[in-house]
Amino acid sequence: MQKRYLVTPGPTPVPPEVWRAMSGPMVHHRGPDFQEVLGRVLARLPAVFQTENDILFFASSGTGAMEAAVANLCSPGDRVLVASAGYFGERWAAIASAYRLEVEHLRYRWGELLQPDEVGERLDAAGDTRAVYVTHSETSTGVVNDVQAIAEQVAGRDGLLVVDAVSSLGAVPLETDAWGIDVVVSGSQKALMTPPGLALCSVSARAWELSTAALSPRYALDWGRAKSLAQTPAVTLVQGLDAAVDLLLARGLRAHHEHHLRLGRAARAGAKAMGLELFSPDDDRSAVVTAIRVPEGIDGVAVVRAMRDRSGVTAAGGQGELKGRIVRIGHIGYVDVWDVVAALAALELALVAAGAEVERGIATAAALDAFNEAVHA
Ligand SMILES: *Cc1c(COP(=O)(O)O)cnc(C)c1O
Repeated sequence: MQKRYLVTPGPTPVPPEVWRAMSGPMVHHRGPDFQEVLGRVLARLPAVFQTENDILFFASSGTGAMEAAVANLCSPGDRVLVASAGYFGERWAAIASAYRLEVEHLRYRWGELLQPDEVGERLDAAGDTRAVYVTHSETSTGVVNDVQAIAEQVAGRDGLLVVDAVSSLGAVPLETDAWGIDVVVSGSQKALMTPPGLALCSVSARAWELSTAALSPRYALDWGRAKSLAQTPAVTLVQGLDAAVDLLLARGLRAHHEHHLRLGRAARAGAKAMGLELFSPDDDRSAVVTAIRVPEGIDGVAVVRAMRDRSGVTAAGGQGELKGRIVRIGHIGYVDVWDVVAALAALELALVAAGAEVERGIATAAALDAFNEAVHA
């Protein structure tokens, strides 16, 4: 038996309180037991989304709610703008293409930041655009985009703003209403500290209105059906999420964000101390996942495997074109600095075993020091 540490950017570790909430007898989704839980979680989720908009559940992975945000807003042939700089941004373009939309794709190199002014320029050039799809935290690269600035660009033009916040909701600041975001999509298994299988989506009045005219075929992913709970919801996961939201709001959303910021500092300081180069920006915005370059000549896939097999630490490798080139340490949700320290120590061991030249024994001290620094100077 080997103790396991999960330091991926999703799924993330699940707190015991959440497991406990999911371990009672099975209840019926129309009965009073579940209605009480549902009422409570729906009353408190707006504080997490920072919105007064409706919040819908889907019994699916986060991608299901992404697909719903295309199917419910658009008709075949509609023009949409996708701005992407990584694996998950590309997913918006793939879904939009699958729905036969005309995709205007503002594509950046993986690891770059989306440029808000260029989103505005592209919207002007394209004309008549139904919706703009962007990724808040691009989990494949560690970049957290300036969604507020993007929203300012979209606000003065036509088109709704749809944000993939699967790995950012609860992790870093996201002000749905104050920033003017129409649709925010998220998932249970990242900063929301709940097992995978429950997707969430907030929908503005303007988006609801547009959805009534959208002709893309849909049934199980129809927003109206989701709102009326026409299908059996993921009862157990909603129970878990209720407990997770409890924990999150008890600590306070802002304190939760600050915790992730400090964990990001710890991960970056540790990686740099052992002589590694960061792939994700060396910046406090990068508080969701830290992407570290694997030294030249070392196979990143083998490093991630060795971390798991030798040390019981499951980190994430690179996706798509970054496969084998980076190691990603996730630090959102029910994660503390000791998880980050374990991840750094396991990474160090795996790299040494692979023949890389790393400075031994100083990463964890650097991480702890960075974590303990005051956030506000
Ligand atoms: C994890 C993730 C998704 C996909 O979520 P699934 O639950 O795997 O479908 C989408 N976007 C981002 C930014 C993510 O981090």
